[in-house]
Amino acid sequence: MMKWIGGTIVARWLNHHWIQSVHRCRLFYSTSGCAQNTLRTTLYNRKNILIFNFRRFRCSTMSTNKESPLDQLTSAVLEQDERVRHMRLQNCHHEDLNSEEERLKELHRKLNQLLKETGAASVDDSEMQKNFPREALEGLLKRRFFIAPSFEIYGGVAGLYDYGPPGTAVKNNIIQIWRQHFVVEENMMELEGSCLTPDIVLRASGHVDKFSDMLVKDVETGDCFRADHLLKEQLNKLLQDSNLSAEEKELAETTLTTIDEMDLNEMTKQLKQWNVCSPETGNRLSDPYPFNLMFQTSIGPTGLLPGFLRPETAQGIFVNFRRLLDYQGDKLPFACAQIGTAFRNEIAPRSGLLRVREFTQAEIEHFVHPEKKQHPKIEKVSQVRVRLFPRRNQLSTRQAVDMTIQQALEEHIIDNETLGYFIARTQLFALKVGLDQQKIRFRQHLQHEMAHYAKDCWDLEVESSYGWIECAGLADRACYDLQNHSEKSHVDLTAFEVFPEKKQMDVWVAEFNKGLLGKTFRHEAALIIKGIEALSDAEKQTLQRSIESQGSVSVTVQDKQYDLTKDMISFKKVTKSVSGQSYYPSVIEPSFGIGRLLYCVWEHNFYIRSGEDEQRAVLSLPAIVAPYKCTILPLSKNVIFQTLITQVGEKLTRLGIQHKVDESGVSIGKRYARADELGIPLAITIDFDSLQDGSVTLRERDSTKQVRGSVDEIIQEVNLLSDGKAQWNDVVQRHPIFNTSST
Ligand code: AMP
Repeated sequence: MMKWIGGTIVARWLNHHWIQSVHRCRLFYSTSGCAQNTLRTTLYNRKNILIFNFRRFRCSTMSTNKESPLDQLTSAVLEQDERVRHMRLQNCHHEDLNSEEERLKELHRKLNQLLKETGAASVDDSEMQKNFPREALEGLLKRRFFIAPSFEIYGGVAGLYDYGPPGTAVKNNIIQIWRQHFVVEENMMELEGSCLTPDIVLRASGHVDKFSDMLVKDVETGDCFRADHLLKEQLNKLLQDSNLSAEEKELAETTLTTIDEMDLNEMTKQLKQWNVCSPETGNRLSDPYPFNLMFQTSIGPTGLLPGFLRPETAQGIFVNFRRLLDYQGDKLPFACAQIGTAFRNEIAPRSGLLRVREFTQAEIEHFVHPEKKQHPKIEKVSQVRVRLFPRRNQLSTRQAVDMTIQQALEEHIIDNETLGYFIARTQLFALKVGLDQQKIRFRQHLQHEMAHYAKDCWDLEVESSYGWIECAGLADRACYDLQNHSEKSHVDLTAFEVFPEKKQMDVWVAEFNKGLLGKTFRHEAALIIKGIEALSDAEKQTLQRSIESQGSVSVTVQDKQYDLTKDMISFKKVTKSVSGQSYYPSVIEPSFGIGRLLYCVWEHNFYIRSGEDEQRAVLSLPAIVAPYKCTILPLSKNVIFQTLITQVGEKLTRLGIQHKVDESGVSIGKRYARADELGIPLAITIDFDSLQDGSVTLRERDSTKQVRGSVDEIIQEVNLLSDGKAQWNDVVQRHPIFNTSST
């Protein structure tokens, strides 16, 4: 967990060490508590912001002379955003915070204005949103029973969906590809944890306190809504209204861009200011309040053990870290994956599978030394080109950029190799399952979107008819999770680094006046001592400086702040010969939502084919994703085809090829259309000639072309096509196109 220690320190110390010009600064420092981790200190004065990195001693100021006005303004917004984030975390005095928030808004307003003048597009602009025939796809998904509302015969429940046979097959195929692509190819471990999770675990992870959205209620009907959604809708509605003055329009536009950053107070203010009412009834709304998204329950008959359905699979890996490390022979880095169900009591489930209350997640926790985030296989992906949408571009040009992973790392756009490696691997996976490369991008989180402990986060966003959708999140979570679980469970979740040879090391040790601590803090004294002893050397050193300059220091242990005076504690440097040291590993977490991916795969592979007399929907799923690789179509229901159907079916089964026999009495053309809707790439047709000479036709879904050959030849082709070892073009080289009337 990050330790936050706030306080005012005198410039003497700062002047002495680095800065000549800052006279009175507020010091906030954050560190993950790892001995080797970067200690990052943000020093503010009232006019400017300086960002120091203690490790690298890098200093960035607001602007340089070379920057364009757009660059300067973007830098100002980014830095002000960072400042506001720190102040919120520090629970700074609300007047101070308010004025900095106002400044941020003003900067956003200026930036918006400048962007408007330059005609920049919106970050969320999506062609698919305007053109995609969603109704046709959704009709198909229902008609062919890919998905259906759960408990439909009782009226259904919002946010719950059942997968029918083809939906289940496609979902399982995607999971299987994921498992092969990540778990097998990356040699990861995999585990299966419980969905039911006791309260204490989710308290330690921060979910009990923080995993919430802002909710408002219709005061008459009690209907619930997400406050941010209503505000967004209201502002968009007002912006369509030509009666709005230019000034009001500008304010509405600026407010729109800052909705995601609003805290409870700001949201309350804005809902009132824009006169947001209940959307259907027009009734008054309650003030917004945080609504925790976890489903609460109690475990066991006594009702004494509170718990939740897990909101993510990740925690099941963190709590098993000790065992995983043992299993791995105490060696880092290593990764563990988990595929399983997560539950979130979404206030407003919507957009089909995109925002549901129960969904499958596939998550990886890659544990790594905080100072050694290089990846041994980075060379293999360094030339992979990805479309990146860095934070800076989101605010300024609003254009994503294509570049190789190598370039992104060299230019420090992506923080570290391991994160870069997973971004590349994620893209390769996305393409494998059938997403369109032109419709995916990796968007970096803006500062206010990142948890305070996170070092860098990127979302795999996929363009869809609902706009850009986050289908996976890739985050460097530092050591937040392990350290928190370690502190709360009192189980050591550190790893140990053995030095190649013993080192003489200066280490900082704390000296406590235990009598005074005991008298002052009673039973909490032991906890404070333990918490301080667990701090890194850099943290201890900084605390000593603070004690020297102020005579006291405030420390946060297990979310509680304690003020300690110099009579209670001091730190000194001693030289020791050490053979290694413990540290909390950092965690790089790629987290995928399978349902969202699946839906986007459907959209990217859906098209309408104009036939002679009707339009036919086609799901052109890649063979590895398709619910069946092949359908067997006898010309009619006649029993004389039965023996050959069985023979072909058995041969396919022996090769592990999923197939479906369609013996319904409708025409071959109609059955091709049905197979196209199911996304089945190949069809083997058995006709009267087949009975004579043992030949069958093979039809390919997207070209609608057919070839003919012996059963064994055709099955061999199906096998190669299903495995991706051959393309249809290869098949037509070997077998001439066979013309029939029905396609
Ligand atoms: P998060 O832990 O919020 O970053 O979520 C991880 C992934 O789970 C996201 O990238 C989504 O793909 C997926 N996800 C999150 N919430 C939902 C939801 N309500 N419905 C469907 N998928 C979700």
